[in-house]
Amino acid sequence: MTKFPKKPQIYVTEPLLPPLDEFIPYLEQIWGNKWLTNSGPFHQQLEQALCDYLGVKYVSLFANGTLALVTALQALRITGEVITTPYSFVATAHSLLWNGIKPIFVDIDPVSLNIDPEKIEAAITPQTTAIMPVHCYGHPCDVERIQRIADNYGLKVIYDAAHAFGVQHYGGSVLNYGDLSVLSFHATKVFNTFEGGAIVCPDAKIKQRVDHLKNFGFVDEVTVVAPGINGKMNEISAAFGLLQLKYIDEALQKRKAIDARYREDLAGVKGIHCLADAGGEVANYAYFPILVRPEYPISRDALYQELRNNDIHARRYFYPLISDFPMYRDIPSAAQSNLPVARKIASEVICLPIYPALSNGQVDAIVKIIAGQPSR
Ligand SMILES: *Cc1c(COP(=O)(O)O)cnc(C)c1O
Repeated sequence: MTKFPKKPQIYVTEPLLPPLDEFIPYLEQIWGNKWLTNSGPFHQQLEQALCDYLGVKYVSLFANGTLALVTALQALRITGEVITTPYSFVATAHSLLWNGIKPIFVDIDPVSLNIDPEKIEAAITPQTTAIMPVHCYGHPCDVERIQRIADNYGLKVIYDAAHAFGVQHYGGSVLNYGDLSVLSFHATKVFNTFEGGAIVCPDAKIKQRVDHLKNFGFVDEVTVVAPGINGKMNEISAAFGLLQLKYIDEALQKRKAIDARYREDLAGVKGIHCLADAGGEVANYAYFPILVRPEYPISRDALYQELRNNDIHARRYFYPLISDFPMYRDIPSAAQSNLPVARKIASEVICLPIYPALSNGQVDAIVKIIAGQPSR
């Protein structure tokens, strides 16, 4: 077998991998019962375990978060126009295009970096059927205000909660807001199943519809009720999720400590702004974004490059804006003049490495590079 060289670089994230020997018994069970996919025993167990851990009613597992977003829109029969944020991963808006829906971009709030509820109403037209906000970096959206607007105009709300695993708001899971919430369990996320995702559903009926849609629309052996997709999670991914759940609290604690260390060490660095923390609620410390302001000695891109020169692969999440990609930029709401806040933040942001295995020494080395840049 070819051995891959171990990379010495520090990446923005590193997957949570429990000890390999603990995974072997799960594999032996799969080999033993020969049930590889289609709602097998591990799939069923993980759905229940996630309901319990997250504090939600129903979970439907998916092969990835993008298929879950596409299916969530179908499950609620969303059409026409959907109001969303340009400041996200491109899959948010792609899920709309895959359903023939027109994304309408609304600017973000300069503090939370989530969609600005103040600007949603002006974007509503007779074609608007839903709002798709993102809990960016796992920071909760203004869920109550968004719900009030949705209720006033008869709109659905689907949260792209890909960053929001384990996040709590007003004493409960943030995933309980809106009509549906969508998680991603991609390798780069706080909780991963290699690839994976889920739709959080408030009742059994909608969960059943979602379950049909992710299995080609099959209701039983001979009945197909919709042009559903193949979005099913396989047993190996589900088993891995179950094992990882045992380690997730420890991982979140480590993330919290890294977040605190960065904040403390970067506090005195002129021109570097750390986002406000998520307040008194349970956060997941999924990302550590900093904003590089004009007072900083060098540009954002120069700092990004300087980090790379030191084998530190930070990422400019989210730059470019979704609305700047070719398949979106001709939509009127994608105009730069419509999105001044998002545009400014996208030009300032860098997400620093944060993951459980990142050592204090590595955090200090990253901070030293950021704090040590001379003007040029
Ligand atoms: C990761 C991510 C997705 C896509 O999830 P996949 O599981 O990679 O398909 C969607 N939206 C946001 C905001 C994400 O960060």
